Amino acid sequence: MHSWIDETSLIPKRETRARFRLKIFNAFEGKCAYCDDDAQSLDHVIPRHRGGQTVIENLVPACLRCNGSKGSTEWTLWYREQEFYTQQREIIIWEWVYQFRDELYIQQQLDHCCSDQLLRNF
Ligand SMILES: [Zn+2]
Repeated sequence: MHSWIDETSLIPKRETRARFRLKIFNAFEGKCAYCDDDAQSLDHVIPRHRGGQTVIENLVPACLRCNGSKGSTEWTLWYREQEFYTQQREIIIWEWVYQFRDELYIQQQLDHCCSDQLLRNF
């Protein structure tokens, strides 16, 4: 007898989640952000236990291989060790992660963690 409540509360949530997922997949054309294979999952760029949030800018599509292999390793450390690594895709991921940030914030973050070469691209 309460089924209408469940439907109205669950369906919009499900739609939102699907749209959220689709937006991320579309931004990367359905490809793994790391290796460019077909993506089947979403990966937390900054792992949750390192303070990464489940927000659009911290999620990228990833194939199961990359998602499993990256695990909880800091993503740039992991990624730069991979044979499919390209700097171009690393920059695309940085731009995605910082898409809602202002330039000053980006500069500060990059000062901490990135090579001069990467900085020049911003
Ligand atoms: Zn991959």
